[in-house]
Amino acid sequence: MKVLKLDHVGIAVEKIDASLPVWEGLMGIPLNGTEEVVEQKVRTAFLPIGDSEIELLESTDPEGPIGKFLAARGQGVQHLAFRVDDIDAALAELKAKGVRLIDETPRYGAGGARIAFLHPKATGGVLIELCERKPQTQTGGARER
Ligand code: ZN
Repeated sequence: MKVLKLDHVGIAVEKIDASLPVWEGLMGIPLNGTEEVVEQKVRTAFLPIGDSEIELLESTDPEGPIGKFLAARGQGVQHLAFRVDDIDAALAELKAKGVRLIDETPRYGAGGARIAFLHPKATGGVLIELCERKPQTQTGGARER
Protein backbone atom coordinates (compact mmCIF):
# COMPACT_ATOMS: atom_id res chain seq x y z
CA MET A 1 0.00 0.00 0.00
CA LYS A 2 1.28 3.42 -0.87
CA VAL A 3 -0.04 6.39 1.10
CA LEU A 4 0.45 9.53 -0.99
CA LYS A 5 -0.56 12.19 1.52
CA LEU A 6 -2.94 13.25 4.27
CA ASP A 7 -5.96 13.99 2.08
CA HIS A 8 -8.22 15.55 4.66
CA VAL A 9 -9.24 15.68 8.30
CA GLY A 10 -12.93 14.93 8.93
CA ILE A 11 -14.56 16.94 11.70
CA ALA A 12 -18.04 16.20 12.99
CA VAL A 13 -20.10 19.34 13.60
CA GLU A 14 -23.65 20.00 14.72
CA LYS A 15 -24.20 22.56 11.93
CA ILE A 16 -21.82 23.51 9.13
CA ASP A 17 -23.10 27.09 9.08
CA ALA A 18 -22.49 27.44 12.80
CA SER A 19 -18.93 26.10 12.43
CA LEU A 20 -17.83 28.38 9.61
CA PRO A 21 -17.03 31.32 11.92
CA VAL A 22 -14.26 29.13 13.40
CA TRP A 23 -12.84 27.77 10.15
CA GLU A 24 -13.42 30.68 7.78
CA GLY A 25 -13.54 33.49 10.30
CA LEU A 26 -10.97 32.59 12.94
CA MET A 27 -8.63 30.40 10.86
CA GLY A 28 -9.13 32.19 7.54
CA ILE A 29 -9.68 28.99 5.55
CA PRO A 30 -12.29 29.69 2.85
CA LEU A 31 -15.18 27.32 2.17
CA ASN A 32 -14.82 25.72 -1.25
CA GLY A 33 -18.15 23.95 -1.50
CA THR A 34 -20.60 21.56 0.08
CA GLU A 35 -22.04 18.22 -0.94
CA GLU A 36 -24.65 15.91 0.52
CA VAL A 37 -23.67 12.25 0.51
CA VAL A 38 -27.09 10.62 0.88
CA GLU A 39 -25.72 7.13 1.39
CA GLN A 40 -23.68 8.34 4.36
CA LYS A 41 -26.50 10.50 5.78
CA VAL A 42 -24.16 13.45 5.89
CA ARG A 43 -23.64 16.89 4.43
CA THR A 44 -19.99 17.78 3.92
CA ALA A 45 -18.21 21.09 3.51
CA PHE A 46 -14.72 21.37 2.03
CA LEU A 47 -12.15 23.87 3.18
CA PRO A 48 -8.89 23.32 1.30
CA ILE A 49 -5.57 24.16 2.90
CA GLY A 50 -2.69 23.82 0.47
CA ASP A 51 -2.71 20.24 -0.71
CA SER A 52 -5.07 18.93 1.99
CA GLU A 53 -8.41 20.01 3.36
CA ILE A 54 -10.68 20.20 6.34
CA GLU A 55 -13.93 18.30 5.79
CA LEU A 56 -16.80 19.38 8.02
CA LEU A 57 -19.43 16.68 8.49
CA GLU A 58 -23.00 17.55 9.44
CA SER A 59 -25.43 14.72 10.07
CA THR A 60 -28.66 14.54 8.08
CA ASP A 61 -30.01 11.60 10.10
CA PRO A 62 -29.43 10.74 13.79
CA GLU A 63 -29.06 7.06 12.76
CA GLY A 64 -26.21 7.81 10.34
CA PRO A 65 -22.54 7.44 11.28
CA ILE A 66 -22.03 11.14 12.04
CA GLY A 67 -25.32 11.36 13.93
CA LYS A 68 -24.23 8.47 16.13
CA PHE A 69 -20.75 9.94 16.57
CA LEU A 70 -22.17 13.31 17.67
CA ALA A 71 -24.56 11.65 20.11
CA ALA A 72 -21.77 9.58 21.67
CA ARG A 73 -18.83 12.02 21.61
CA GLY A 74 -20.00 15.44 20.56
CA GLN A 75 -18.29 17.67 18.01
CA GLY A 76 -14.66 17.11 17.13
CA VAL A 77 -12.16 15.27 14.94
CA GLN A 78 -13.89 12.18 13.53
CA HIS A 79 -11.47 10.68 11.03
CA LEU A 80 -8.18 11.08 9.17
CA ALA A 81 -8.19 10.38 5.45
CA PHE A 82 -5.09 9.18 3.63
CA ARG A 83 -4.90 9.25 -0.12
CA VAL A 84 -3.67 6.03 -1.70
CA ASP A 85 -2.72 5.37 -5.30
CA ASP A 86 -4.77 2.15 -5.57
CA ILE A 87 -7.53 1.59 -3.02
CA ASP A 88 -8.44 -1.89 -4.29
CA ALA A 89 -4.86 -3.05 -3.85
CA ALA A 90 -4.64 -1.35 -0.44
CA LEU A 91 -7.80 -3.10 0.82
CA ALA A 92 -6.62 -6.47 -0.54
CA GLU A 93 -3.32 -6.01 1.25
CA LEU A 94 -4.97 -5.07 4.55
CA LYS A 95 -7.44 -7.95 4.29
CA ALA A 96 -4.57 -10.37 3.65
CA LYS A 97 -2.95 -9.06 6.84
CA GLY A 98 -6.15 -9.70 8.78
CA VAL A 99 -6.82 -6.03 9.49
CA ARG A 100 -10.40 -5.35 10.59
CA LEU A 101 -12.17 -3.18 8.00
CA ILE A 102 -15.46 -1.30 8.09
CA ASP A 103 -15.59 -1.34 4.28
CA GLU A 104 -14.36 -4.45 2.49
CA THR A 105 -14.94 -2.77 -0.85
CA PRO A 106 -14.65 0.93 -1.76
CA ARG A 107 -17.73 3.11 -1.80
CA TYR A 108 -18.61 6.57 -3.04
CA GLY A 109 -17.20 9.47 -1.06
CA ALA A 110 -17.65 13.23 -1.27
CA GLY A 111 -15.97 14.86 -4.24
CA GLY A 112 -16.21 11.69 -6.34
CA ALA A 113 -13.52 9.85 -4.37
CA ARG A 114 -13.56 6.11 -3.78
CA ILE A 115 -13.27 5.58 -0.05
CA ALA A 116 -13.09 2.84 2.58
CA PHE A 117 -12.80 2.96 6.36
CA LEU A 118 -10.57 0.84 8.57
CA HIS A 119 -11.99 -0.19 11.91
CA PRO A 120 -10.66 2.06 14.71
CA LYS A 121 -10.11 -1.03 16.87
CA ALA A 122 -7.42 -2.05 14.36
CA THR A 123 -5.68 1.32 14.43
CA GLY A 124 -5.35 2.33 18.06
CA GLY A 125 -8.64 4.19 18.20
CA VAL A 126 -8.16 6.36 15.10
CA LEU A 127 -10.82 6.11 12.41
CA ILE A 128 -8.82 5.98 9.18
CA GLU A 129 -10.31 6.54 5.74
CA LEU A 130 -8.46 5.51 2.63
CA CYS A 131 -9.36 7.49 -0.44
CA GLU A 132 -8.46 7.32 -4.08
CA ARG A 133 -9.19 10.23 -6.35
CA LYS A 134 -8.91 10.33 -10.08
CA PRO A 135 -7.08 13.40 -11.37
CA GLN A 136 -10.29 15.02 -12.71
CA THR A 137 -11.99 14.79 -9.31
CA GLN A 138 -9.16 16.19 -7.24
CA THR A 139 -9.55 19.01 -4.77
CA GLY A 140 -10.37 22.21 -6.57
CA GLY A 141 -12.52 20.51 -9.18
CA ALA A 142 -16.06 21.52 -10.01
CA ARG A 143 -18.07 21.88 -6.84
CA GLU A 144 -21.06 23.95 -5.99
CA ARG A 145 -20.73 26.45 -3.26
ZN1 ZN B 1 -13.52 11.86 4.85
